[in-house]
Amino acid sequence: MLPVFKNEPLTDFSKPAEQAAFSAALERVKSRLGANHPLVINGREIYRETTSATINPSRPQEVLGTFSKGTVDDANYAVESAYEAFKSWQHTPADERARYLLKAAAEMRRRKHEFSAIMVLEVGKSWVEADADTAEAIDFLDYYARQAMRLADQSHLLTMYAPEQLQLVNIPLGVGAVIAPWNFPLAIPTGMMSAALVSGNAVVFKPAELSPLVAWEMCQLFWRQGIPDGVLNFLSGSGSVVGARIVDHPLTRFISFTGSKEVGINIHESAAKVHPGQKWLKRTILEMGGKDAVLVDETADLEAAAVGIVQSAFGFQGQKCSAGSRAIIVREVYDQVVSRAVEIASKLQVGAPDAGLHIDMGPVVDQKSMGKIMNYIEVGTQEGQLLFGGSPVVTPEGGYFLQPTIFGGVDGRARIAQEEIFGPVLAIMPADNFEHALFLANDTEFGLTGALYSMRRDRLEVARREYHVGNLYFNRKCTGALVGVHPFGGFNMSGTDSKAGSPDYLMLFMQAKSIAERL
Ligand code: NAD
Repeated sequence: MLPVFKNEPLTDFSKPAEQAAFSAALERVKSRLGANHPLVINGREIYRETTSATINPSRPQEVLGTFSKGTVDDANYAVESAYEAFKSWQHTPADERARYLLKAAAEMRRRKHEFSAIMVLEVGKSWVEADADTAEAIDFLDYYARQAMRLADQSHLLTMYAPEQLQLVNIPLGVGAVIAPWNFPLAIPTGMMSAALVSGNAVVFKPAELSPLVAWEMCQLFWRQGIPDGVLNFLSGSGSVVGARIVDHPLTRFISFTGSKEVGINIHESAAKVHPGQKWLKRTILEMGGKDAVLVDETADLEAAAVGIVQSAFGFQGQKCSAGSRAIIVREVYDQVVSRAVEIASKLQVGAPDAGLHIDMGPVVDQKSMGKIMNYIEVGTQEGQLLFGGSPVVTPEGGYFLQPTIFGGVDGRARIAQEEIFGPVLAIMPADNFEHALFLANDTEFGLTGALYSMRRDRLEVARREYHVGNLYFNRKCTGALVGVHPFGGFNMSGTDSKAGSPDYLMLFMQAKSIAERL
């Protein structure tokens, strides 16, 4: 018997004791940095000579740890080990599998500031953003544990048929390749991996190259409980080497991926190929990019809209798939909203987030990202009017800091209005009226999140029907989905239409078996 699922509360940082606890966690984490971490395959720790360092983007010379780079042979070994382990793990009762998640959730909750502190250092999250990431990871564990128990046997849903005794059970698929991004480096891998495991699959988990440390800490929560060898394999390394191999391997049954559109498409194509010895068509669960918009009409609460625009665009430096990288404002209130949004953005504090709670925006994740974003800013100066920002923020340690950057007067078809920049760059577009604003919002290849600020019931109803995004929000920002509250995932090029944190998400990791016994 389990209590009803409840979302993990966010930390109330207005309390000095919580601030002190977070600072202490940062110090604890810093005191144990720098270790070399192995691959873990079939319960064996394997160290490779070739390693890659995970660094602090606020101070790039600061190495947080090194990780072995897996090879194609390691990838083969990991898939084959998982395949063996699956033979017994698949028959472990759902409630027993769920207990691994519940215990991991409890342990993560006890040490939540430590997990958050690692993300402050490894990817430059502010305290508030890191805290939300950890809370979401805890939620996934607690939520999927309950869903797995609910979904294991659905015989009660069948239509009675007297001559037979009936059963409908949801059984796992097999070996899952779980491939994660760096931007929600705890919540997303925890969600994908725990969904796969609790459904009875064995997992080869490939963390993102830029954030293996927090993922490593999360895997420890399962290994320390004694999850059977081979059920959860940790395969660090490059996406194009080990990632591609675990996608291609004929014993892989499904791929659970979150990341960019380009890599997602590539995985979708590779997974479609049937290799010699392969007995199934691979399933892909792909969660990809976004170019999300916040719409404001002339009836909106303009102050709330300006705040929502800035929060949606610049939370975690705009490095969220759900980031509101476009704002579409009807002309009547355009100047007013834009000037207020610029004013709010100009007050955001940029800096190394371990300096304290007062830092709103940390660094972008690495040099490559910084270069890509600066290129888009250059494009933006041709395509719109630079209203704020546009420059790096230089620090003695060479951190990858950028000002929040706002372009106004952008055309709907401009590159900065169409392509995912994945950084603190906001493109603002004027619209003739609400209908035009909605047209512009839908006029991208993505369809992940969207917001509308309006007081008009008829427009909210039109948007409810016609705003084509997986996660639609009215009179609030377009980021910050909660597990079980806002099932998350987008349409079109934002992915394969799955909904993480929803009652039916685990069905993507299972297949239904109907059994009838003639009596
Ligand atoms: P990415 O696509 O570069 O990498 C994601 C993962 O794929 C990494 O682990 C990488 O090593 C691996 N990979 C790279 N090449 C591969 C290959 N050929 N075969 C197999 N694996 C490969 O994405 P990223 O930069 O880590 O993350 C940012 C992207 O993720 C953004 O586009 C963002 O919108 C998206 N994202 C989407 C969601 C969502 O829920 N829809 C959530 C978070 C992030």
